[in-house]
Amino acid sequence: MSVLSVLLALLVAAGPVVPGPADDLVEQACRAASTGDRQTAWRLIDQALGLAPLHVEANFARGWLLQEAGELQAAISQYRKVLALAAPQDPYAVQAREALGRLVGKCKTVALAFDDFPFAHDSPKLLSTLRTLRVPATFFAIGFKVRHFPDLAAQAVAEGYSCQNHTYSHGRLTGLADQVIMDEIQRGADAIEAATGIRPHLLRLPGGHDNAHIRQLARRCRHVVVDNVIAVGDYAITDPAVVEQRVLRSVRPGCIIALHDGVESTRRALPGIVRRLREQGYCFVTVDEVRELAGDAASPCQP
Ligand SMILES: [Zn+2]
Repeated sequence: MSVLSVLLALLVAAGPVVPGPADDLVEQACRAASTGDRQTAWRLIDQALGLAPLHVEANFARGWLLQEAGELQAAISQYRKVLALAAPQDPYAVQAREALGRLVGKCKTVALAFDDFPFAHDSPKLLSTLRTLRVPATFFAIGFKVRHFPDLAAQAVAEGYSCQNHTYSHGRLTGLADQVIMDEIQRGADAIEAATGIRPHLLRLPGGHDNAHIRQLARRCRHVVVDNVIAVGDYAITDPAVVEQRVLRSVRPGCIIALHDGVESTRRALPGIVRRLREQGYCFVTVDEVRELAGDAASPCQP
């Protein structure tokens, strides 16, 4: 059964509940698409989304049209938006999740991560760059900074980005007492949850200072320390071309590219990195998705 026939079946099954103007437009769009008239379908879906930007069916149909047009990356983003809009058991959410799994499975996956989020002046610029590139990303946030700028964390999550934990104070954890380490993780998570409503479950350790004991403590705090990370030291590089070159030289499918918020050269390198990796057949996903899809089979990612 194609995604389109599922969509039509769902619309028919929704029955005679008083449809709004956007519902009518989506139904007409699906009928146009089923006769091969994609141009009309696009026009009607754009109209429906103009009237009701958060309309679940219209967003799902847009995902399908993008997928049909071969715009896989944009289709992935669109289906992800459906998942953010609909309840998990909603039939469109179920369909979107399946479509997403199939699409992402066709790509070499890679995730962009940004440590040290947020910065009052830099984070809005980074969010704007990512929005323009239509690329998913994961922010590893520092708890005390999120307490100062909760709106930036809330905005990132509202725009579909993932906000995860980079401890509360960003100090080196190795050598500290167990309780202090766990407090750093829990207080970081508390700050992020208070700002965004979502409790993080992934952890990046400040400065990469890592050991098996800290990982065990993180698990007790219901966090996983992320692996398969390429860290290129972007915070110390002023030339965007060098950031791009180092990322492209190190990248492997299933890796997490760990960059930093608050670094202008990184922000300026992003359009080139994203364009070149897309040309090489990479799909950008969140850190959660890259871990889920790559599993233990991921290539070791070395800087
Ligand atoms: Zn950091």
